[in-house]
Amino acid sequence: MSRHVIVTGASRGIGAAICEHFIELGDHVVGLSRSGEAPSGCARVFALDVADSQSVNTALKSSIEQFGPVEVLVVNAGVTHDGLAMRMSDEQWRSVLATNLDGAFYSARAAMASMVRARSGSIIFIGSISPFIGVPGQANYAASKAGLIGLARSLAKEVAARGVTVNVVAPGLIDTDMTTELGTAKDAMLAMIPMGRIGQPADIAGVVGFLASNHARYITGAVLATDGGMAMGH
Ligand code: NDP
Repeated sequence: MSRHVIVTGASRGIGAAICEHFIELGDHVVGLSRSGEAPSGCARVFALDVADSQSVNTALKSSIEQFGPVEVLVVNAGVTHDGLAMRMSDEQWRSVLATNLDGAFYSARAAMASMVRARSGSIIFIGSISPFIGVPGQANYAASKAGLIGLARSLAKEVAARGVTVNVVAPGLIDTDMTTELGTAKDAMLAMIPMGRIGQPADIAGVVGFLASNHARYITGAVLATDGGMAMGH
């Protein structure tokens, strides 16, 4: 049966691959992005800033009116704004936390009531291995992704008895616009990946699809590194 799936950060990279995965399964996929872009085949698309709680609430309300309770929410929208901490501006810190952590909370909060009422649902946050290994120049980003784990596990306990699961997928180095910016630092990171290759967005989409499936119905509060072994042991 076709599910109501909402994906934030749907326009490109990992989010677009996640949308395509669920579209292929025949689900009603609703894509959210700043630009209002999303893969063709999405049932509906909203242009919004996830850091603005009002616009998130409005979009999800409208999606729920059209497609019913949210069955799968993938919180994927994220940004980087790198710089060494000693020189990091307030704005650099705040903007990353606002999108990656505030935006994640606003998205989950807007979807949860409909899931709890339906006594079923799956929330999947796209985190990162950065809080496990520490990344110089990414104090803001790693802090935001560490925060997602505390958020996800607390929500998981709040809604576990209502049939809703909450998990985190923590990608390693994935080939998207976000990592194109890394330039030559990418080669040094590649040397840290036991599997010897950079991940593709589809590698993450498959894991998200699994966590949203009935096969994963007994998994909640998990953090699943999907990184070719990069953060193994951390
Ligand atoms: P991209 O930069 O390729 O895409 C980012 C997506 O997020 C775009 O769809 C963008 O929309 C959307 N977005 C950004 N800010 C906002 C906002 N304020 N409101 C709404 N949408 C927003 O990133 P990736 O695909 O690489 O990353 C996706 C997720 O995976 C992120 O959370 C990232 O932190 C995480 N991740 C990525 C890794 C990697 O190696 N690539 C590694 C670990 C984690 P628009 O196009 O409209 O601007």
